Amino acid sequence: MDNQAMFALSYGLFVVTARDGDKDNGCITNTVGQVTSSPNRISLTVNKLNYTHDMIVHSGQFNVSVLSENATFDLFQRFGFQSGRNTDKFAGFSGVRRTVNGLYYVTVGVSAWLSAKVVQSIDLGSHTMFIADVTDGGMLSLVPSATYTYYQAHIKPAPVKPTTAKPAWRCKICGYIYEGEVLPADFVCPICKHGAADFEKIS
Ligand code: FE
Repeated sequence: MDNQAMFALSYGLFVVTARDGDKDNGCITNTVGQVTSSPNRISLTVNKLNYTHDMIVHSGQFNVSVLSENATFDLFQRFGFQSGRNTDKFAGFSGVRRTVNGLYYVTVGVSAWLSAKVVQSIDLGSHTMFIADVTDGGMLSLVPSATYTYYQAHIKPAPVKPTTAKPAWRCKICGYIYEGEVLPADFVCPICKHGAADFEKIS
């Protein structure tokens, strides 16, 4: 198997937001897709380590903000490179509004939003796949939605040269540096939760 073949798959990018009690959170994902049109249903797959995962399990609903090519890297830092368990990702951030279900959606760097209600959860081991009815939605701009390839080429800053001479690996998704000669095969990036396949040796 040529593992590079998996990188030929194309993905969109999304901020998924949820609310549990009076706590809001959101995370970046590339795993939203429509599964049926009648009823209008989408699937969302979330790593169980993500705080947003548990909030969706408890509340049974989530919003999807579809990132556009106008999305800036700080959106990815805010929602992708920190955990809602120990930070309020919405602190000092004015680019949000609430939908009628009470959840936030993001209004900047976003082409459209959807509200969804979970109708089925599938346990995939490390992840849960949520199947959800789309209950509402709206357009915010006609700027094309960002693909994962577009993010890699145009949104993510160029990598900086490592300052360490020690053997190290860099996460190609978020830039996290793992120091060590050998990266364990089951290593999971503590920042973005991607696996060892998304790391490259840098020194
Ligand atoms: Fe990472």
